[in-house]
Amino acid sequence: MTVTAEDILTGLRPWVEAESPTRETQAVNRVMDLVAADYRGIGFAVERIPGRDGLADHLRATAPWGGEGPGILVLCHVDTVHGVGAMGPAFRREGDRVYGPGVLDMKGGGFLAFTALRLMAEEGTGGLQVRVLITGDEEVGSPTARALIEAEGERARFVLVPEPARNGGRIVTGRRGVGRYGVTVHGRAAHSGIAHAEGRSAIAEMARQVLKIEAMTDYDRGVTLNVGRIEGGTTDNTVPEWCRARVDLRMDDAGLAAEFDAALKALAPLADGFEIEVQGGITRPPWRKTPAIQALFAHAQGLAAEIGFDLKDIHTGGGSDGSFLAARLPVLDGLGVDGAGAHTLEEHLYVSSLVPRMRLLKRLMETLA
Ligand SMILES: [Zn+2]
Repeated sequence: MTVTAEDILTGLRPWVEAESPTRETQAVNRVMDLVAADYRGIGFAVERIPGRDGLADHLRATAPWGGEGPGILVLCHVDTVHGVGAMGPAFRREGDRVYGPGVLDMKGGGFLAFTALRLMAEEGTGGLQVRVLITGDEEVGSPTARALIEAEGERARFVLVPEPARNGGRIVTGRRGVGRYGVTVHGRAAHSGIAHAEGRSAIAEMARQVLKIEAMTDYDRGVTLNVGRIEGGTTDNTVPEWCRARVDLRMDDAGLAAEFDAALKALAPLADGFEIEVQGGITRPPWRKTPAIQALFAHAQGLAAEIGFDLKDIHTGGGSDGSFLAARLPVLDGLGVDGAGAHTLEEHLYVSSLVPRMRLLKRLMETLA
């Protein structure tokens, strides 16, 4: 059974054209309909887990082989960061590149996994049980999928994540941890013309806090803090009563995660007359290449060599759903399509990467035992 890159693009296109920003629940659910139909079409049992908290449904697709497992868990998400229409036409080809929301991150990789499983179903080459979780809230930190992912991890022996490849086709064997926080300062409003001295400017207090938070960055220990968004105040002529900031924390080990999480939660006013609230926490724990992950990576390298390419790995900065399981299971991430521009309007995949990457996923799922 041969599959060409053109075949893969033809099947992928409807998934991409069903644009699906995380917060547009109905749009995400529409792509879930397509994915569910595709998996049912190849004989998988598909369960739909209803969404909650204003987020979309998730799917669990179970292979018709392998009994109850334990088996291989494949993690895919079909939400994207792009607003509907943001990239213009949702699927646009230019030579070896296809541009579109999610072509790279990660409907492309999700479709490669589906294609590999379709071929395995047709050829009867499945061995170990395969369960695929297709989730709809990864790009906001997987608040509703996390428990499902952790529960599936309990009955998995291996975890494969077809998130995009990195830096020229590298797969991911370690990721930095991620924390997300909202910091709110309350001061006291006052008329800026007639009662200025009675006000307590929440924006001025936040300015002091931002400098403090940014100064916690410690490159030597591999910890960064980024105040990525800020808003506050009501009108030009009112001393601002409130100000809010969003903080992104990244770190490389669990001890640092706990230390900086505690430091952020302990933020206190730097001047009199203010109150500070901190919400949030660690959304993705850090993970490093364990011996089990190294062994799985070495196996994948051997399979890639048989297919005809040299597979390298990387420790990367972004979190993924693989982060929830990597401390206790062998996880390979970044197994999806190669391309560039994830999370930008230039997001694209390389057509030439589709077949070799699909074959690697297929050989992994066929050979793991
Ligand atoms: Zn992704």
